[in-house]
Amino acid sequence: MSDKSKVTLDQIIEAIEADDNLGFCLACGAEAYNVEPDARRYTCESCGKPRVYGAEELLLMGVGI
Ligand SMILES: [Zn+2]
Repeated sequence: MSDKSKVTLDQIIEAIEADDNLGFCLACGAEAYNVEPDARRYTCESCGKPRVYGAEELLLMGVGI
């Protein structure tokens, strides 16, 4: 199984700097709103999978690097 992410480090850094509770879905790459920076496994409104994470959490996980 590939670990390649649809979310880039640039997107994550931008979301953290904007400080507006933006998260990303690792399954489809969709942006999600009202997601706390440390959120984990929220359900994605686009694909329905529980793979939405907050921006800071994604950074800690090493996503996009
Ligand atoms: Zn999704």
